[in-house]
Amino acid sequence: MSIVKVLNVGQGDSMILKHPDDCNCGEHEKTILIDLGPGDGGRNPKVGGIDYDITNRLNCNENLHIFLTHSHMDHINGFRFFWSNWSKLNRISEITVPCYHNQCVLIAEALLKLKGVQNLNPNSVIDTLKQILINQSFLAWMSKKKDIITYAYEGKPICEHITCLNPPKFYVPTDGYYYDYDRERFYRLADDLFMPEFAEKIKYFIKYGRPYKKYEDTDEDYWLEVKEKHSMEMKESRFRFVAHFFLENQEELQLFNWESTYGNYRKLYRNYCKYAHKACIVLKATFGEDTMLFTGDAERQVFERLIKEGKYQELSAEYLKMPHHGSKYNINLNILKTIHPKAAIISHGSRYHHPNKSTTDLLRQQNIEFYLTNDAIKKGQLPIYKKDNPPNNSFIEVE
Ligand SMILES: [Zn+2]
Ligand SMILES: [Zn+2]
Ligand SMILES: [Zn+2]
Repeated sequence: MSIVKVLNVGQGDSMILKHPDDCNCGEHEKTILIDLGPGDGGRNPKVGGIDYDITNRLNCNENLHIFLTHSHMDHINGFRFFWSNWSKLNRISEITVPCYHNQCVLIAEALLKLKGVQNLNPNSVIDTLKQILINQSFLAWMSKKKDIITYAYEGKPICEHITCLNPPKFYVPTDGYYYDYDRERFYRLADDLFMPEFAEKIKYFIKYGRPYKKYEDTDEDYWLEVKEKHSMEMKESRFRFVAHFFLENQEELQLFNWESTYGNYRKLYRNYCKYAHKACIVLKATFGEDTMLFTGDAERQVFERLIKEGKYQELSAEYLKMPHHGSKYNINLNILKTIHPKAAIISHGSRYHHPNKSTTDLLRQQNIEFYLTNDAIKKGQLPIYKKDNPPNNSFIEVE
């Protein structure tokens, strides 16, 4: 019997997926972890009675395949519990990130290296972006020691039970418009926007597809080493992904350098988050009649793209991990009807007003049972969902 455990990690995501004992697919001996939670327990081991160190929920002999849906703190910071412990670290046999992962981190660094940032007081957005780079440095260090990083993209073979629906292999711009991106225009933009050293770095990226830091063995080198060979078209696609961010946000970026206010910086940060969510990993697991859709923080456009491409069967699932902690911006009636879940799980904390009332109203209107991981709302009473009878036949557990 396969099993999915949705862990209560406060504001964040972490799920454990186990294959049935009698399975023989390529992944059956591995414990699959989808995201690692916010890891707040590093500062305060017991938050509201909940220990956020997800490694405590694993057995010490497990062989781990970790999927990191995207590089945001509430999905990746739990890594700190692996860093500090060699025996835990050694059990990781594979870490899968979205194929635009390096590019998303490059955009995060670019926001930190805008000229205008020098005029800004330290703030929470800057801290968050720095944290993304700290996690990435550690991942990059690991990727150089051990060849364990792989990319996820739509159609990537994982095993007969798990399919990847997002990000697409070839980047599709949100507005459907392919910018004309001549390199000279980029070089001028880079010199205009960034501190000189970073301007050189990103110009090098534009020319060669990776930052030049690789060639100096410094701590700042955060580029993940991935051994898989990819076609020129896929490489080009990753370049476009970065190019689009700068061209779509060119006015806002220039405005921030003129008027370096926190408000203008937040706008850029929000746009970057949407980008990272557009490239977020979406997985579908199918074990006989049990099906579940793992959506990370995927943007609404991710589902709209799949619907537009007629992928109804791929999207339909009995259980749905609601995208982005139940935010109203990531789901709508049409998407929900296409997925047509029997039950939905919302993984969230008490911050950021997640889940939005309109999301839970939508689920109620559609008669979809839903479960919240947030201990603050449930006052420590976490629901455990058991599937029909017999009671020990449970596919989903929220714990
Ligand atoms: Zn999140
Ligand atoms: Zn996110
Ligand atoms: Zn499998």
